[in-house]
Amino acid sequence: MTIDTSSCGRVCLLTRHAKAPAIAPALAAIGQTLETIDRFDTDTLGTFSGEIERQGSMRDAALSKAKLACDLGGSRYGLGSEGAFGGDPFLGVSGWGRELLVWWDAEAGYAVEGFVQGPETNWRTAEVVDLNAARHFLAEVGLPGHGVIVGRPGEPWFDKTCDDADTVLVRVREGLAAGPVMLQTDMRAHRNPTRLAMIARAASALASRLSTPCPACAAPGFGPAEAIAGAPCEACGMPTRVPRAERWCCPRCAHRDERPLALQATADSCDRCNP
Ligand SMILES: [Zn+2]
Ligand SMILES: [Zn+2]
Repeated sequence: MTIDTSSCGRVCLLTRHAKAPAIAPALAAIGQTLETIDRFDTDTLGTFSGEIERQGSMRDAALSKAKLACDLGGSRYGLGSEGAFGGDPFLGVSGWGRELLVWWDAEAGYAVEGFVQGPETNWRTAEVVDLNAARHFLAEVGLPGHGVIVGRPGEPWFDKTCDDADTVLVRVREGLAAGPVMLQTDMRAHRNPTRLAMIARAASALASRLSTPCPACAAPGFGPAEAIAGAPCEACGMPTRVPRAERWCCPRCAHRDERPLALQATADSCDRCNP
């Protein structure tokens, strides 16, 4: 690999899904210029609609993309973006999004991550049995403005290009002749402004991490890695499962330190007062 060290602030990102406008501003604020490489089809590494399974974890996938971006762009820094969607972690009934950005320094050989999650997603799937159910689904997921995918890969009515209700309903009618039809929100960033907004939040999280140097080696990326339980109960003073501190880690040299949170736990969260 040839690394271009003349422009140290250049970060390459592989995407054909127009993610750059959501990511570039946060990186620009810390002096990094995002460059999009669109000659590589990231859909070959996995699709949300199931034609191609993503290999490995979300982190593995984002890191591979970041390394590939360095290779293809001849840059020291690369960025990989991965999203994951499903039911919320509490009851599983409403949508939940996770967005990860992995920044890779090919020269120093380490990665820094920006991660956010939350209910701010239009992710939804439905098996519709008539056109009314389809219309109801489209109204709920924000079409037009957001894309919808009709059918499953391999079905003749499978279509990832629909962006207005009429086109969707033509496809749905075609599929209904054979039985219930699968509808799902299109989670590709260029067809999902709600997802783009969450990617922008991940970019801010990444930028804030990158602007924090490690106190030991000065590499960018020092930040919280895990919570340490043991905040004292306000009533009895015993340690609880509520965090008392955060452990901060350097992704490059593995230096770590503890940052107290100065929290008191309520008696409700104390195993002794509220067993
Ligand atoms: Zn360090
Ligand atoms: Zn207590």
